[in-house]
Amino acid sequence: MKIAIIGAGAMGSLFGGLLCKSGNEVWFVDVWQEHINAIKERGLKMCGDKGDFVVTPRATTKASEAGRVDLIILFVKGFHTEEAMQSVLDIIDENTAVLTLQNGLGNVEIIEKFIDRKHILFGMTTLTSDLEGPGKIFMSFAGEGETTIQPAGERWEDAQCVSDVFNKAGLCTVVTENVKQHIWEKLVVNCNYNTYCALLGLSVGQLIDCYASRSLLVATTEEISAVASAAGFNLPYYRAWEHLMEVGEEARAHYPSMVIDIRHKRQTEIDFLNGAVVREGKKQGIPTPVNETAVTLIKTLESTYHHRK
Ligand code: NAD
Repeated sequence: MKIAIIGAGAMGSLFGGLLCKSGNEVWFVDVWQEHINAIKERGLKMCGDKGDFVVTPRATTKASEAGRVDLIILFVKGFHTEEAMQSVLDIIDENTAVLTLQNGLGNVEIIEKFIDRKHILFGMTTLTSDLEGPGKIFMSFAGEGETTIQPAGERWEDAQCVSDVFNKAGLCTVVTENVKQHIWEKLVVNCNYNTYCALLGLSVGQLIDCYASRSLLVATTEEISAVASAAGFNLPYYRAWEHLMEVGEEARAHYPSMVIDIRHKRQTEIDFLNGAVVREGKKQGIPTPVNETAVTLIKTLESTYHHRK
């Protein structure tokens, strides 16, 4: 399969690297020139607990250089989706599928502004990856991890075809009708751990061990559960909380990516996480004051970086 990875950072490099290793024609497209140069010169070094290896995908800063592709995998941060979509329109034809595995809610709606829904696949992955520097990633997920995908329109055969290619590459993938349910479950995790670990500068374990933070996590989760339930998903509070605590125990030592974003004074994906809960809450008529406050606090941090050492 001919595949373009748009946004070849931590996750794009993980998926793109494994897909390249299993024999697909993979193009890495990224605006980060130094990373693209490193991949062109030395390939992509993929490090992990089971050993390191190097893959040699094609790499470019201009999507048009790749020419028409069968599959686009969008792995930019949500606030770059619009700009990224603008840059890929001339490598898409009638049979191209565009897959987003980005976190949170809202990316499908942005992609839909550019292409017909029938081209779009969306999904959720429990795999994780860290970018160590130009041309180098660390595959940080413990265990196997799973990716679920679904067509936004009716092209189930596209989803199955992509799933087959992913499984051949060792990316354990299933096609399901329940991706949105999985996305909401992951949203519970990200809206609590990403946001509050970032605001407080704590690891996941430090946050959940702090008795004083419990009421915050409870209130945030209650709101997400209420909004998800009103939107038709099966996410009663007790299940959402159980899931949050289970993931928290597994990820005790982890500093979520928003902690690193805040540390490096970068824009965060808050609009696609707690911000998306607030938007959906408004649609469903469910108040979300705690999530709204979390958004305000992160946005205040983002807009006052220049005052901080
Ligand atoms: P990242 O910052 O490592 O990578 C994003 C890449 O996109 C960067 O290399 C950046 O240069 C590039 N980019 C920005 N604008 C671009 C454009 N217009 N065209 C092409 N490239 C562009 O981010 P990441 O951690 O890989 O996360 C990507 C998405 O996956 C996010 O939605 C994130 O929430 C989600 N996610 C991340 C993880 C993880 O473990 N890192 C796990 C699951 C999901």
